[in-house]
Amino acid sequence: MGYIAVAIDGPSGAGKSTVARAAAARLGYVYVDTGAMYRAIGLAVCRRGIAEEDTAGIIAVLPEIRLAITYQNGTQHVVLNGEDVSEAIRTPEIARYASKVSAVPAVRQFLLDVQRGMAENGNILMDGRDIGTVILPQAQVKIFLTASVEARAERRYLELCEKGQAVTREQVAADIAERDRQDMTRAIAPLRQAEDAVLLDTSALTLEESIQAVLRIIQEKTEE
Ligand code: C5P
Repeated sequence: MGYIAVAIDGPSGAGKSTVARAAAARLGYVYVDTGAMYRAIGLAVCRRGIAEEDTAGIIAVLPEIRLAITYQNGTQHVVLNGEDVSEAIRTPEIARYASKVSAVPAVRQFLLDVQRGMAENGNILMDGRDIGTVILPQAQVKIFLTASVEARAERRYLELCEKGQAVTREQVAADIAERDRQDMTRAIAPLRQAEDAVLLDTSALTLEESIQAVLRIIQEKTEE
């Protein structure tokens, strides 16, 4: 006990993971990217040829999944049944699968214990969609980090281009809008701002300004 937990939630492409990772590194906290866990389950489902909509099929895969989170030089790696899938999960197809599997209650329950367990071992900064509302409702610091759809689409587009993936701006914007819709309207743990979360809109902020804003909020809240 006595560890500090920082919960950062928000929609896709708001720069959440980049900002959260950098803020955690500067504070010496362990950074936990929960989206990567949903992506790993999405990857396992996709590789087995199970359709995104096949809830029973998704649930049947869970007992076959062994998920480990490891750290190498402070960077989180996701290990799925012994294979490091940290890179393989970063495609638009797997993002779509992640969004689908994340709406299945059994999947969320499966990851809830893993995520809560990680907050018991040290100071952490965890990013996701339901960290402040469901996973760590007692977190000392809660931030809802967002940006306009346009700003988020532009950032994600540049990121994917940099990785050499053939995408168009329109495709990326449509994917983001669709994932927002799915994440905000699902019956279980929908994306929403916790009542006690601080809203941070990064549309007009640079990466460094966003990191500074997050660090300032954490400092204020942990000094209270
Ligand atoms: O953050 P990232 O884009 O990697 O997340 C992939 C998907 O996983 C999201 O679209 C969302 O549907 C789901 N997710 C979730 N709860 C979290 C983190 C991610 O439902 N805590």
